[in-house]
Amino acid sequence: MSENNKNNKNRELELICPICKGNDCIIESVVKLYLSMVEKFPKYQDENSESIYQKYPTVGDIGECKKTFKRIWLCPYCKRPFESNYALEKATVNCPNCGSTLCIPVSHRTFC
Ligand SMILES: [Zn+2]
Ligand SMILES: [Zn+2]
Repeated sequence: MSENNKNNKNRELELICPICKGNDCIIESVVKLYLSMVEKFPKYQDENSESIYQKYPTVGDIGECKKTFKRIWLCPYCKRPFESNYALEKATVNCPNCGSTLCIPVSHRTFC
């Protein structure tokens, strides 16, 4: 599609959609914002906490697949995107790439 990705300036980040392999589903600015926020997570991480939000980092909600309208999430450990795969009764997911436990963004859960 576009030719302006040739210089590969984001080599450390994989911004290809994990669902349709397109390169305009993931929002790069959201990825950068998320990574800068999640960087601080280890400072308040508490393995013994009652709250899962203190035990595990929250996945990055980094875009929506333009072809399938599914949400695209980013793992803060391996920094690879994956298709959202939350189950309603669960508050965490495991990264399909590296297996890390991650919290689901609150907006995807129902409280009722
Ligand atoms: Zn896509
Ligand atoms: Zn991962």
